[in-house]
Amino acid sequence: GKKAFIAGVADDNGYGWAIAKSFAAAGAEILVGTWVPALNIFETSLRQGKFDESRSLPDGSLMEITKVYPLDAVFDNPDDVPEDIKANKRYAGSKNWTVKEVAESVKQDFGSIDILVHSLANGPEVGKPLLETSRKGYLAALSASRGSSISLTYIASERIIPGYGGGMSSAKAALESDTRVLAFEAGRKHKIRVNTISAGPLRSRAAKAIGF
Ligand code: NAD
Repeated sequence: GKKAFIAGVADDNGYGWAIAKSFAAAGAEILVGTWVPALNIFETSLRQGKFDESRSLPDGSLMEITKVYPLDAVFDNPDDVPEDIKANKRYAGSKNWTVKEVAESVKQDFGSIDILVHSLANGPEVGKPLLETSRKGYLAALSASRGSSISLTYIASERIIPGYGGGMSSAKAALESDTRVLAFEAGRKHKIRVNTISAGPLRSRAAKAIGF
């Protein structure tokens, strides 16, 4: 079977969870990357069976998640991590959660994967109009949204969606551009397909912050 790694699953409400279920229903083995600060509650909820109802697949079985990797996609390697985050209790309790380290761990555990889904976003100032967004908030939105094999974008990249602030519209425009360029580059170099799905509005945890 195929192995799918879905980055950006921390509850059962978002796109990542739904995508994981579709791949599981199609017979894929599921690995997920969960944002470090959300890891504890996600794993606890999984263990306690809180997601059992929403783990159910069309054939009646439950989706199994083979492994949950702690991940913070904003950092490529340990050198990038600032001291205050390193010292943060929630981060200090996990290890190997930068992008390169997670990639290495997955490689060690499973050799290679067939499908990579980027289903994460973090716009700390998403509630603010772009006009009032700080450089820090803007760059944070861009930084969490870089492209990969399949990612999730939003129509706010090309049309004005009031309320989708904090540089998230810019982040999605960059993501769509990166998808085109990476499809060309990774396609030629590694025969890897790179796509992004422009999803409709869904009341996920991330979207509640905007009042969608
Ligand atoms: P979600 O809250 O389920 O998923 C976002 C996830 O990103 C969360 O699990 C969060 O913990 C994680 N995350 C945030 N920062 C991270 C980081 N630095 N490293 C690792 N993980 C991090 O919400 P969602 O709406 O399903 O979002 C999934 C994707 O779909 C996002 O790219 C979002 O922009 C996109 N999208 C959402 C909508 C919508 O209306 N909900 C519409 C179009 C596109």
